[in-house]
Amino acid sequence: MDGNRLRDEIVADLRRTIEAAGSPPVCLATVLVGDDGPSQIYVRNKHKKATEAGMVSRGVVLPASATQAEVEAAVAELAADPSVHGILCQLPLPDGLDAESVLALIPPEKDVDGLTERSMGRLVRGQVGHVGCTPLGVMRLLERYGVATAGKRAVVIGRSTLVGLPMVLLLGRKGVDATVTLAHSRTPDLVAVCREADIVVAAAGSARMITAAHVKPGAAVIDVGISRTEAGIVGDVDFDSVQAVAGAITPMPGGTGPMTIACLLENTLAAARMQGAFPT
Ligand code: NAD
Repeated sequence: MDGNRLRDEIVADLRRTIEAAGSPPVCLATVLVGDDGPSQIYVRNKHKKATEAGMVSRGVVLPASATQAEVEAAVAELAADPSVHGILCQLPLPDGLDAESVLALIPPEKDVDGLTERSMGRLVRGQVGHVGCTPLGVMRLLERYGVATAGKRAVVIGRSTLVGLPMVLLLGRKGVDATVTLAHSRTPDLVAVCREADIVVAAAGSARMITAAHVKPGAAVIDVGISRTEAGIVGDVDFDSVQAVAGAITPMPGGTGPMTIACLLENTLAAARMQGAFPT
C-alpha cells in the first residue's frame, strides 16, 4: 500500500477540484513554536504539498521562549480571520506550554487536525466534523487498495487520542463495519491477539515490534509507528519478515506518513466548504 502514490493522487485531485471552481483561495495556516527539527520538517512538507494542491498557506512561527499568552493570541487571531480555513498547531509544544488550552481556541470548522475535544466529540457522536489526519489516512489506504473491512477483524495497537482511539472508532463505524480490538502496552499475549486479525494497525511507537509471528497469512498490516533508532527511522513493523506473510503492507517510510499530509489537505478543502468559502 503505497502512501506516496496515493498522496500524489489525492493532491492532484484536490488541485483539479480547486481549479475547476475557479481557484478561490483555500487557506491552511500552521503554528510552529520552537525549533524542534522533525516538527520543522513536518510543517515545511505541509506547506509544500498545500501549494501543490493549489492552496494558499500561511506559517506562523514563534520562538521556543514564547509565552502561553503569545501562542494563544496567535491561534486566536487565525481563528478569527475569515481568510484562514484550516489551522494546524504543530505538536508537541515546547515544555511549559499547555497544548490543551491552545487547541481549545481552534473552532471545530477550522480544526483540520481533528484533535480538539469538540472534533473528537463529533467523531464519537457520528456528527459532521474533521477526523484526525493519520487515522483518516489509514482508512484511505484501506479503501484505495481494496482491503475489505466489513465483517473483518481488526486490531489497533496503541490507544492515543491522536491515532489509536480515533482509528478504533473509524474501523468500527457503520459502513466500515470491522470488529475492532484495541490493544495496548498492557495487553497480554499480543501475538495471539494480532494473529486473529485480518487488519493490523500498529501505532505504538515501538521499533519493529510486529513480526511475522503476529500476522495471520494474508492479513493487511498498516504501520503508523515512527521510531528514531541508530539505524535510522523505523516503524512498528518488521517489514522484511512481515511482508512475506501479509496480504498487503505499508512501507515505512512511504506509507502512513505521506497520507497524513494528504488527509490534512483533504480536511482543509472540507473546512473551506464548511465555512462557505468553497462550493459544495
Ligand atoms: P503515544 O505514545 O501517545 O501512544 C502509544 C500507544 O501505544 C500507547 O497507548 C501505548 O499503550 C501503546 N504501546 C506502546 N508500546 C507498546 C507495546 N510494546 N505493545 C503494545 N502497545 C504499546 O503515541 P501516538 O501519538 O499514538 O503515536 C504512535 C506512533 O505513531 C509514534 O511512533 C508516532 O511517532 C507515530 N505517528 C506517526 C504518524 C504518521 O503520520 N505516520 C502520525 C502520528 C504519530
